Amino acid sequence: MSDPYRSPISPGRSWYEDSVGPRPRHPRLDGSRTVDVVVVGGGFTGLSAAAHLARAGISVALLEAHRLGDGASGRNGGQMGTGHRLWPVELEKHIGLERSRTLFDVAEEAKAHLLAFSRENDIEIDYRPGQLSLAHKKGYVEEYRKAAQVVAERYGYAHARFMERGEAAERLGSSVYFGGISDTGTGHIHPLKLLLGTARVAAEAGAALHEETPVLSLERRGGRIEARTPFGTVTAARALIATNAHGGTLNARTAAHVLPIRSFIAATEPLAEPERVIPGGESVDDSRFVVRYFRKSADNRLLFGGREAYSSASSAIEPQIRRQIEATWPHLKGVPISHAWGGSVAVTMTRMPYVAEVEPGITTLAGWSGHGVMLSNFCGRLYAERVAGGPDRLEPLAALRIPAFPGGRRLRTPLLFLAMTWFSLRDRF
Ligand SMILES: Cc1cc2nc3c(=O)[nH]c(=O)nc-3n(C[C@H](O)[C@H](O)[C@H](O)COP(=O)(O)OP(=O)(O)OC[C@H]3O[C@@H](n4cnc5c(N)ncnc54)[C@H](O)[C@@H]3O)c2cc1C
Repeated sequence: MSDPYRSPISPGRSWYEDSVGPRPRHPRLDGSRTVDVVVVGGGFTGLSAAAHLARAGISVALLEAHRLGDGASGRNGGQMGTGHRLWPVELEKHIGLERSRTLFDVAEEAKAHLLAFSRENDIEIDYRPGQLSLAHKKGYVEEYRKAAQVVAERYGYAHARFMERGEAAERLGSSVYFGGISDTGTGHIHPLKLLLGTARVAAEAGAALHEETPVLSLERRGGRIEARTPFGTVTAARALIATNAHGGTLNARTAAHVLPIRSFIAATEPLAEPERVIPGGESVDDSRFVVRYFRKSADNRLLFGGREAYSSASSAIEPQIRRQIEATWPHLKGVPISHAWGGSVAVTMTRMPYVAEVEPGITTLAGWSGHGVMLSNFCGRLYAERVAGGPDRLEPLAALRIPAFPGGRRLRTPLLFLAMTWFSLRDRF
């Protein structure tokens, strides 16, 4: 049975929501209280942190402005990927081979964590292995060949290999791409199932989860941190800002480093001839700056994501994505689309995550730049380990020292919009 609720912060109702049935509700905060850690935001980052903090015996209250998963975590493409948004071949130019290797290993551990966490906690996430990364222009083919070689030779990653155009066409069921990489060491999942499972684990471990409880301000007062909401104040020794693209002006430093971009997905009805579209069941992303990403669901729908519609009305999403689907597989002309939705991805200047102590005792984990499915979950765990007195394994990410966006508070969003429009045009011509 489906739940008629719709996210107030993300357009359209997702297929994921209709495929999980009614979601458990968590009560609003009711009065003030004191805990060890207050977490702001109920997506992968916040819930993973809450689950691991509670399991370590640390008292934690998580405050979510809407329902858990209403942000990106319940509505994304479900692709785990490998490494970071910047490929190792690019990243090592900026930070050197050794640090780039360390970050690659963090991402590998994040992948393993996601699969182990869901297995150990009986969370069915519909995992399917395989990822294809494809060049949409001939000029990018050599970059893909080089990237596959570098990751094998310098990072010891044995699962990725270059594919010529013919093989890419066979694996996709379409000849519009020019070649790319086949990666058998990663895969794709049903994100809302993971999110709801993580929330269950957190609640069972004793984390207090509060929905429909927006944090209006987060401030240090007399050596403690106060998260003020309309229903009471949570006082804590530490706070985690896990609001990603939805943080608004809650914390000025975070807002200067992390900006939201809309991304959109459409789901078809189950395909009549599923074997003609990605017969191996891999997930796919491409070389466009405004990346297209797609895969089949467990019930053989095509879930196709792109980001070229700047209107957030769900009626505007479907025709845009339909055009992209039909351009890739002409035989899908007129395919029925059952759902079209969107969400907000948080990007940083360098497309690497923003991990920072923004004020004493207040940490932000955000800016996953479209690569947060595995990283946000794992970094939530690493945050909990650090608070519990374990080693600081977030340090390699914190050391990236992500620069703030230029333009100040008023100009940074229009400047990003202009940049995105420029890159989107470059993708086409
Ligand atoms: C359409 C789409 C497709 C994507 N596809 C992929 C993909 O295929 N692979 C991949 O790796 N990544 C993908 N991403 C990105 C990925 O979903 C995110 O990186 C990840 O989910 C971030 O999780 P999070 O917990 O940090 O943020 P979110 O899940 O966005 O959670 C933040 C939460 O904070 C809450 N919040 C904000 N302000 C407040 C406040 N003041 N008080 C209380 N609560 C507040 C919000 O309501 C929200 O629920 C995609 C994102 C989108 C939108």
